[in-house]
Amino acid sequence: MSFKDQIQRRRTFGIISHPDAGKTTLTEKLLLFGGAIQEAGAVKNNKIKKTATSDFMEIERQRGISVATSVLAFLYKDKKINILDTPGHKDFAEDTFRTLTAVDSVIVVIDVAKGVEEQTEKLVQVCRMRNIPIIVFINKLDREGKDAFDLLDEVEQKLGLAVTPLSFPIGMGYDFKGIYNIYEKNINLFSGDNKKNIEDTIAFDDLNNAELENIIGNKAAEELRENLELVQGVYPAFDKESYLKGTQQPVFFGSALNNFGVRELLDCFIEIAPAPRPKKSEERLVVADEEEMTGFVFKIHANMDPKHRDRLAFVKIVSGTFERNKPYLHVRQNKKLKFSSPNAFFAEKKEIVDISYPGDIVGLHDTGNFKIGDTLTEGEILHYKGIPSFSPEHFRYINNADPMKSKQLFKGIDQLMDEGVAQLFTLEINGRKVIGTVGALQFEVIQYRLEHEYGAKCTYENFPVHKACWVEPEDPKNEEFKEFKRVKQKFLAKDKRGQLVFLADSQFSLQMTQQKYPSVKLHFVSEFD
Ligand code: GDP
Repeated sequence: MSFKDQIQRRRTFGIISHPDAGKTTLTEKLLLFGGAIQEAGAVKNNKIKKTATSDFMEIERQRGISVATSVLAFLYKDKKINILDTPGHKDFAEDTFRTLTAVDSVIVVIDVAKGVEEQTEKLVQVCRMRNIPIIVFINKLDREGKDAFDLLDEVEQKLGLAVTPLSFPIGMGYDFKGIYNIYEKNINLFSGDNKKNIEDTIAFDDLNNAELENIIGNKAAEELRENLELVQGVYPAFDKESYLKGTQQPVFFGSALNNFGVRELLDCFIEIAPAPRPKKSEERLVVADEEEMTGFVFKIHANMDPKHRDRLAFVKIVSGTFERNKPYLHVRQNKKLKFSSPNAFFAEKKEIVDISYPGDIVGLHDTGNFKIGDTLTEGEILHYKGIPSFSPEHFRYINNADPMKSKQLFKGIDQLMDEGVAQLFTLEINGRKVIGTVGALQFEVIQYRLEHEYGAKCTYENFPVHKACWVEPEDPKNEEFKEFKRVKQKFLAKDKRGQLVFLADSQFSLQMTQQKYPSVKLHFVSEFD
């Protein structure tokens, strides 16, 4: 197969949802279609279920599972599909945001009864900022839920999407009869047991055919005709270009648990979803079929085995082919590195591979060379953009609890920050270190990992801050900026890259500061150029 064909057959995407909407279940059914797993239950749910933060082993165990499911790849109808895992738990939202820099499209799962939930809103907002093509899957149609039209409205309003249904439910919950597939023009009848055979589908391109009554009954037939007429009247026809540009989002209905409507989703997905897309670097736009390999690190995961402290850096290949034992330039460190055992992912296993293509994810063993956002090339100086840090909302002073181990502590903190577990700030006024995280769970993870991986002990002290904002650099002679720095000195810190950060102690003081110093620009993500 030619290099170009290899690129064209790849689909790298993420499934995003609020916890419990059915992401894990859908992932598993997709893998079943690919024949990548043989039975249900093979995909472990990596949700962090506990809100209590006392059970460290449980956190670790669950994090371990998330390594295994970080990338799930399978073949379906000759397409190579890479699903990138996106944790739904809000404390790990940052992981998900970063993973979204490595996907070429997403599927959003929505619970038919709960509608659009909080995490979905946040994640979709990030996808929209990046114009990522989105397909919506409305799940759990076997249960009573909201009216289909109301839900479509809700999706448009809360998520700011412009939807067009490509399938439409016939009844719902107890009366759920099946789905009319607008895209393929056929009916799929629901029988409640895990059917995935295509024989269940009845081709139906003329809905006025009286046969419809025989199949789904008079009342349902009449309702379906009315509904589809309304769909046609209200929603624009599906337009692939608009979908790819991120300006139109097709919607499917189904039930992941019953494997119903999933094949339809997958068949449409492999046809319309984009192959690896071009990616912006600070220097230029890079397209997938360029000969030279380029890629970037979007995730770093600690090895679960405490005897091997190496980590796995996940690299998305943007262009060219990644080959085993070939030297690549680590741009930030300006040094060449070779990888003798790059991992590829297949279903829930990982294995060593000789060659990977654009769209693929390779896992590289790393002893501390990589940071999130690092770029690899064949020699070109290139920096991939777009892995921002998000403004943390939980803060604590971090103290060394074992003076004999301060070296280990600093090394540990340094590496954990590189992995993107949390952010470290150094207060301007006294040089004290403050850890900021997006979720409270991370503090426990850090403490546990410092002890078990680095042999260092830390304690925390409360630091009552509401939010950290990055301060856009200003002319230091600007009087307003000077005054801001003087008055707010107690609340200023530097992040790891030396960028100035304002730590607002309340929403009110943040607003007051913005009003008082309008020329000082405050940002809630670290990248604002
Ligand atoms: P995730 O948190 O988004 O990964 O959600 P899961 O896939 O773990 O699903 C959450 C719960 O919803 C589980 O108990 C599933 O069995 C259930 N579930 C998933 N899909 C369906 C569906 O189509 N119908 C029904 N009734 N339950 C479902």
